[in-house]
Amino acid sequence: MRSAMPTDPDPESDVVIVGGSLAAARTALALRAEDYQGGILLVSAETEPPYDRPPLSKRFLGAAMSAAELTLLSADRAQAAGIRLILGRAATALDPARRRVTLDDGGRLRYGTLVIATGAQPRRLPGTAAGVRTLRSLADAVSLRLSLRSGSRLAIVGAGLIGGEVASTARAQGTEVTLIDVSAAPMSGLLGSEVGDLLARRYRDHGVTVHFGAGVVRLGGQPGAMAVDLSDGTRVEADTVLAAIGVTPATGWLAGSGLDLADGVGCDEFGRAAGRPDIYAVGDVARWYQPDVERSVRFEDWTSVHNQAGAVAHTIASPGDPRPVSAPRYGWTEQFGLRIQLVGRLAAGAERSLIGSSADPECLLQTAADGDGRLVWAVSVGWPRAMVECRRAIKEGRSVAEVVDRIPHTEKLLAASC
Ligand SMILES: Cc1cc2nc3c(=O)[nH]c(=O)nc-3n(C[C@H](O)[C@H](O)[C@H](O)COP(=O)(O)OP(=O)(O)OC[C@H]3O[C@@H](n4cnc5c(N)ncnc54)[C@H](O)[C@@H]3O)c2cc1C
Repeated sequence: MRSAMPTDPDPESDVVIVGGSLAAARTALALRAEDYQGGILLVSAETEPPYDRPPLSKRFLGAAMSAAELTLLSADRAQAAGIRLILGRAATALDPARRRVTLDDGGRLRYGTLVIATGAQPRRLPGTAAGVRTLRSLADAVSLRLSLRSGSRLAIVGAGLIGGEVASTARAQGTEVTLIDVSAAPMSGLLGSEVGDLLARRYRDHGVTVHFGAGVVRLGGQPGAMAVDLSDGTRVEADTVLAAIGVTPATGWLAGSGLDLADGVGCDEFGRAAGRPDIYAVGDVARWYQPDVERSVRFEDWTSVHNQAGAVAHTIASPGDPRPVSAPRYGWTEQFGLRIQLVGRLAAGAERSLIGSSADPECLLQTAADGDGRLVWAVSVGWPRAMVECRRAIKEGRSVAEVVDRIPHTEKLLAASC
């Protein structure tokens, strides 16, 4: 749907949204749900209408889902909602004084309100050999999917959310998987060392070769015959190498705009860019001020993005009643048949508990409480029922003891401070 003609010179829309995925689509639709009557224009660098990313490492990668099922905002739905889509056009510059966005075809868009929703882009391995893949877009997933065959060899650098999920999907296709990470246990910084150790065991049990505590020192070869040399002297040979080492916010096009761009666009608690009441940032590209910790934080979770978009749409539609995100941070991952969910924020010194289920040894819940015993953070493994209680408890300020009482079959295993 990339237009052959240059973008109209200087068309004016009340709200211009730059970005083409969850943050952008959800903001546009939520504006209409808020009964916003002004013009809405969404401009995306991608040629596909906005689509969802979590399945790209799960069901879509495993060929159990089609590209059409990923769609978040189809052309028809956009038209029906009065949302103008410009696809296949990247924003290249922002002039906040003139309220103008420049596009890669030289066209310019004028806005009343701008929503920055350009997300994030994968980090690359330094000195990366040609053919090292990353996974962010539909095109990335389509080409990675082609390399997941029985007997093919995949080396994944980075055992975070995406690395672990791809390992899980690839093993289900019969691919030989090697997972490499500099940390001693996967995702232990975010999920705690107990869950990290549990994941590491799970990977091994499912036939993944793991190299934890070792970094990549050299990458060579070409697709079909790649070699990854590790700091512990191991050489991993693979047909395909995936770098899954995190993302950086996509703010390159905002250079020179005067916005605060240190790790994403710095915003107040309502998503307004610092010093610019007519500019908002939403999603992986945005760093919102969090009054509870008195600093700004950038999230990369689907639910956080969804909630931010809803809040921004409300604030744009009802400027006299600005809305922050009230729900605590929530994220999830699915790996090797386990659903792992996280809610809240883990602060240094919090009192931690590890809770098991007498009904199912696979279920695990980690909690952390503040000085008054109130639940502030929880991670559940294979225990969605427990997570429902934890999400409610954090919102309502309930104690860990109350949460434990409400979940059937709980057994407290240990308590520790972190
Ligand atoms: C493979 C994968 C699996 C995931 N799984 C989970 C999960 O299980 N649970 C979870 O909580 N989260 C998950 N996430 C994270 C979640 O998908 C992201 O938090 C979410 O996609 C962020 O949405 P966004 O719209 O802010 O950014 P993005 O999804 O990065 O979208 C940004 C959009 O902006 C466009 N764009 C960028 N620059 C420009 C420009 N200059 N001009 C115009 N357009 C531009 C991009 O092309 C893209 O369309 C996953 C992410 C990936 C990639």
